[in-house]
Amino acid sequence: DMEVAIKVVVVGNGAVGKSSMIQRYCKGVFTKDYKKTIGVDFLERPIVVNDEEVRLMLWDTAGQEEFDAITKAYYRGAQACVLVFSTTDRESYQAISSWREKVEVEVGDIPTVLVQNKIDLLDETVIKNEEAEGLAKRLKLRFYRASVKEDLNVTEVFKYLAEKYLQR
Ligand code: GDP
Ligand code: MG
Repeated sequence: DMEVAIKVVVVGNGAVGKSSMIQRYCKGVFTKDYKKTIGVDFLERPIVVNDEEVRLMLWDTAGQEEFDAITKAYYRGAQACVLVFSTTDRESYQAISSWREKVEVEVGDIPTVLVQNKIDLLDETVIKNEEAEGLAKRLKLRFYRASVKEDLNVTEVFKYLAEKYLQR
């Protein structure tokens, strides 16, 4: 009975909440001053999908995305991907297509989901709903609005990815 382990990469511009999302999902906490480096390559969490035990390994970056310096080792063997942008950062929204391409070049067409984080800051939004939905449609991706801070839709994102991976 082989256990399934899935390498998930979480990509997007700096400060959109990637590390916080990984921390939230794997450790159940949210800290405002979360350090950029977690000291390990990934955090993991088991999840049961269709009576099958799956281990999700969520790979974090050490902030290299700000310098466009993510190494091939980060993407190597990735089996699923979370593309993240922030409600309060238009550049992060505009960068999504190029993040998608980077992942595709390295590992091909893997199960992917689009996430708009920081939905708790909707009052300060710089992205119209139609724009975000249009992007998801163009990229043919399932779209979630989430708040890592308020723990909104985070588990749903990873459950969807695990299901999508097992369906292949
Ligand atoms: P990363 O650079 O993409 O890894 O982003 P971080 O996880 O380091 O988060 C950047 C900042 O955004 C930190 O101050 C977080 O506390 C904050 N943050 C992350 N998620 C949320 C969220 O859902 N809502 C709000 N208001 N802040 C968030
Ligand atoms: Mg980070």
